[in-house]
Amino acid sequence: MFCSNCGARNEENAAYCANCGNELRRIETPRVDVPPPPQPRVQFSYGPQSSQYVPNYLVPAILTTLFCCLPFGIVSIVYAAQVNGKVAAGDHPGALQSSRSARMWAWISFGTGLVLIVGYFVLVLLGGLLGAA
Ligand SMILES: [Zn+2]
Repeated sequence: MFCSNCGARNEENAAYCANCGNELRRIETPRVDVPPPPQPRVQFSYGPQSSQYVPNYLVPAILTTLFCCLPFGIVSIVYAAQVNGKVAAGDHPGALQSSRSARMWAWISFGTGLVLIVGYFVLVLLGGLLGAA
């Protein structure tokens, strides 16, 4: 850039003129805000779940029934069994609801079983400690 005072040529980023010491005023070019390039919008379809497939959670329901907590697991199995029937009947929202219930009860069953097992081990441990004392 050139000094407006003496006309000496200075470096582009110089703050003061090397020749006369005049403050070099940068001519502000109006900032053009370049908009970010548009993100390609890809519509992800989450596999079969977005269409008609409804997970029935029958396997976790049965597993939790066997290994964790029988009553809650049975509730889960009942809901899981409803899912396929409702899908077959075309009741998609109903199937989804049963699916969610099956999952929820499977988790409740799992959690209860876990608490029982942990509680059992704590009791055993306590019994061992008390017995040893
Ligand atoms: Zn100058």
